Amino acid sequence: MSKYDVIVLGSGPGGYVTAIRASQLGLKTAIVEKENLGGVCLNWGCIPTKALLKSAQVFEYLKHAEDYGLKVNEYDKDFDAVVKRSRSVADGMSKGVQFLMKKNKIDVLEGYGKVKPGKKIDVTSSDNKTIEYSADHIIIATGARSRELPSLPQDGKKVIGYREAMTLPEQPKKLIVVGSGAIGVEFAYFYNSMGTEVTIVEYLPNIVPVEDVDVSKQLGRSFKKSGIKIMTSSEVTKVDTSGDGVKAYVKTKKGEEVLEADIVLSAVGIKTNIENIGLEEVGIAVDRDKILVNDYYQTNIPGYYAIGDVTPGQALAHVASAEGILCVEKIAGMHVDALDYGNIPGCTYCSPEVASVGLTEAQAKEKGYEIKVGKFPFSASGKAKAGGNADGFVKVIFDAKYGEWLGCHMIGAGVTDMIAEAVVARKLETTGHEVLKAVHPHPTMSEAVMEAVADAYDEVIHL
Ligand SMILES: Cc1cc2nc3c(=O)[nH]c(=O)nc-3n(C[C@H](O)[C@H](O)[C@H](O)COP(=O)(O)OP(=O)(O)OC[C@H]3O[C@@H](n4cnc5c(N)ncnc54)[C@H](O)[C@@H]3O)c2cc1C
Repeated sequence: MSKYDVIVLGSGPGGYVTAIRASQLGLKTAIVEKENLGGVCLNWGCIPTKALLKSAQVFEYLKHAEDYGLKVNEYDKDFDAVVKRSRSVADGMSKGVQFLMKKNKIDVLEGYGKVKPGKKIDVTSSDNKTIEYSADHIIIATGARSRELPSLPQDGKKVIGYREAMTLPEQPKKLIVVGSGAIGVEFAYFYNSMGTEVTIVEYLPNIVPVEDVDVSKQLGRSFKKSGIKIMTSSEVTKVDTSGDGVKAYVKTKKGEEVLEADIVLSAVGIKTNIENIGLEEVGIAVDRDKILVNDYYQTNIPGYYAIGDVTPGQALAHVASAEGILCVEKIAGMHVDALDYGNIPGCTYCSPEVASVGLTEAQAKEKGYEIKVGKFPFSASGKAKAGGNADGFVKVIFDAKYGEWLGCHMIGAGVTDMIAEAVVARKLETTGHEVLKAVHPHPTMSEAVMEAVADAYDEVIHL
C-alpha cells in the first residue's frame, strides 16, 4: 500500500491545482481520476465552450464584414469542424495537465476512487483491479454533473445536457434551451449564431437572473435583436419525445404553450458527485447535495477535506482552485485568510459578454446601504465604437457614506477580462475616488470603468 501526505480525489480545476500547490509545498501527493485530467472545466465546461463561442464570434465578424468596410465573397460554417476544434482545444488542455502532474512529481492514480475510514482510499481501475492507498490528508474534489429535473429527463439525444450540447453530431434546426444561467445563454448564443432557431425558457422573470437587472434586460434586448426567442416567467412542465422531434409543454403566465424543436437542452444547474464515493462509510457530513466544510475546507472527520463544486461556494472553476490552494496551504501550516465569497467574479461568455462582482443594486438596497450608482455606456467609448462593439455598459455601485465599492456589473465586448480591475480594487478596499484618480489607458474599454465611477461621483467627462 502506497502512503502519501496528500491524496486528491478528482482532477478538475479544484483537484489538479490543489495537487500542484501541495507538491510545491513539499507534500508527497497523488491525484485520482476516472476520466481525463482537467475535470469538467477543461474537458466539458469552461474551455470547450469558449472554443465554440470563439467560432461563433469569428462567424459573426464574417457576417458583418461589410460593417468594417470589408468584402468577404464566400463564407460558411462547418459545424463538424467547429465541434472538432473545440474538442481538440479541450484535449490539448487536458494533456497540459498531464505535463503539469509530471513536472510537479504528482502520481496520477487512474481509476474510480472511494474514500474509506482510516484515511484510506480505494482506486479501482478500468480492468476492475482495486488498490488501496493511504494519506495523512484526503481532499475530495469530485465536482458535479448536469442536474436532471423530473419534468425534463435527459435521454442524451432529444433531451440533452451540456456534454451532448458541445458534441452534437449534427446541428439542430430548432433548439429549446431550458434555463438561462451562464451555461444556458452561452449555448443559446452559440447555436443562434450558427443558424439554429433558439428559444430560451426561463422560470424567473429575467434571463441571467443572478445578474443586476439592468444587465439582464440589456442581454435580453441584444438576444432578441439577434433572433433568439425568450420566454421568461415560464416553465417546461413536460416533454414528449415520441415523435420525430420533441414537444415541450411550457406553462406561461398566459397559459400553456407547446413548443416543437429537434432538441431540448436542459441547463438548469448542476448536481454534485457525492454518491458512491464512501462519504457514508467515513461519516462525512453532507447538507442537501453539498459536503459541509469549515473555512479551511475540513469536513467533520479529521483528515478529510472537500473543495470545489462539491462544497457550498459558487460552482466556478476559479473558486474551486482558490479553495484548493487555501486548503493545502493550511495543511502545510501556513497562515491563511478565509476566502471572501462576496468578492468572486462571475462571467458569462456569450456576446455581449457579462461580468460582475459584488452586490447588485437591488441587493445593496435590500441590505440597507445608501448608495451612489454610476453607469457608462459603451456607445460613448471611442474604443468600443472603433471596434464596432458599442452595445453594453459598466455599472458601479458605491456605499455613499464610506465610498466602499459594493458592486460592479458589466455587459459588452471583452468585459470578462475587465472585471478583474473591480475584484482587485475591492480586495484592496479601494474607494471610488482612488479608482477615479488611477489613470486608465486611452483608448480602451477599461476607460468605461473609470467613467462609470466618475458618473457615480458626478464627475463623468464623456457623457
Ligand atoms: C458547460 C459549462 C461551462 C462552464 N464554464 C465555466 C466558466 O466559463 N468559468 C468557470 O469558472 N466555470 C465554468 N463552469 C463551471 C466549472 O467547470 C466548474 O465549476 C469546475 O469544473 C469545478 O471544478 P471541480 O474541480 O470542483 O470539479 P470538476 O471539474 O467537476 O472535476 C471533478 C473531477 O473528479 C472526477 N471524479 C469524480 N468522481 C470521481 C471518483 N469517484 N473517482 C475518480 N475521479 C472522480 C471527475 O471525473 C472530474 O474529472 C462551467 C461548467 C459547465 C458545465
